[in-house]
Amino acid sequence: MTINRSGSANTAAAKILKRCDELAAFSSMEGGVCRVYLSPEHQQANDRVGQWMRDAGMSVVVDAAGNVRGRLEGSVAEAPALIIGSHLDSIPDAGKYDGILGVLLGIDAVERIRQADLNLPFALEVIGFGEEEGVRFGTTLMTSRACAGTWDDAWWSVTDETGQSLQDSFARFGLVAADIDQARIDPTKVLAFVEAHIEQGPVLESMGLPLGVVSAIAGARRLQLSISGMAGHAGTTPMNLRKDALVAAALGVALAEELANEHGLVATVGQIACTPGGVNVIPGTAEFSLDIRSGDDALRDRVLAEFETRLTTICTERGLTLSISHTHKAAAVGCAQPLQALFADAVARVGCEVHHLESGAGHDAMAMADICDVAMLFIRCEGGISHNPAEAITAADTAIALDALVAFIENFAKTYKS
Ligand SMILES: [Zn+2]
Repeated sequence: MTINRSGSANTAAAKILKRCDELAAFSSMEGGVCRVYLSPEHQQANDRVGQWMRDAGMSVVVDAAGNVRGRLEGSVAEAPALIIGSHLDSIPDAGKYDGILGVLLGIDAVERIRQADLNLPFALEVIGFGEEEGVRFGTTLMTSRACAGTWDDAWWSVTDETGQSLQDSFARFGLVAADIDQARIDPTKVLAFVEAHIEQGPVLESMGLPLGVVSAIAGARRLQLSISGMAGHAGTTPMNLRKDALVAAALGVALAEELANEHGLVATVGQIACTPGGVNVIPGTAEFSLDIRSGDDALRDRVLAEFETRLTTICTERGLTLSISHTHKAAAVGCAQPLQALFADAVARVGCEVHHLESGAGHDAMAMADICDVAMLFIRCEGGISHNPAEAITAADTAIALDALVAFIENFAKTYKS
């Protein structure tokens, strides 16, 4: 589906894509994009994005966590804000759009609202978060958590790969660690947080749709499973007298796929290993990981319980022992229904079919959900590819995403009651 936008939307889309190219040049990596938290490249990105925010008519600050924040006041002084944001940091050898696009769409949407003189009774803010990917200090969503007031002081002593602590990095960046609480956003001063982001998956492209309304950001659970049997000679041990740990693990992998298909969630075994690992030896032990995600925590937990029960039976029947350790658990974050409805209406108004989908990846909106309602708009990306230099979007989709974001703000204004 390709929808032609007006000339001004196309001009804005071309500008946004050019800006994505400009930001990609702020990189620590020769021939690729890498921009981590509190690096010189982060500073450059903040400076440039801050200038674009000012050009769009916003006042700009860099907050106590290093986020660049632009604000357009409404008709009422110090009114609460509708916040639009995403992140400016990247993984090593990244694409040009993950995170960046959402910040730049926000800036242009605010500029459009300002030019239209809508006289909104609330403020608009755009935040370019400094840290989402967790590359430098191993924790994701650090700066959106600073805004949400869920910063963890245990992070201060964490060091990067060069041995520099987060605390020292703050000082080098010109920030004051003791002031971190000043980045916190007063929940009474925020109306909602919305994030536009490339989909990072193949669903929209497969459906021929430029945009998707996110229903929830999936929660994840991770397990390490260990199966013990008996190693033995591959030639002399008959099939009915074996305790082959790897066969049970393989049945576990297939079971995870079967249950995920049956219940409409995603489950992945990304690591598997067995010992002793000889071509002529029956595997005595097998270890594997399981990552299971859903926008519905209760469903995910039910499916996981069924997986554990059935795998236990498989192992018992084969004379094997199974041990399971739970290594990670994150709750799903639902996007607020009223905001989803406003996005759905906006997407329909710009001429697109409305499709709701879950986000399998984490986003800054997860952290912001602690202080306000959140919503997300996904933009189709080529091949569903992200976290890869091949990340690509079209100017036509960028134009329609901008129109939809502006339409969302207009919808939000219509339903807003101070
Ligand atoms: Zn991202």
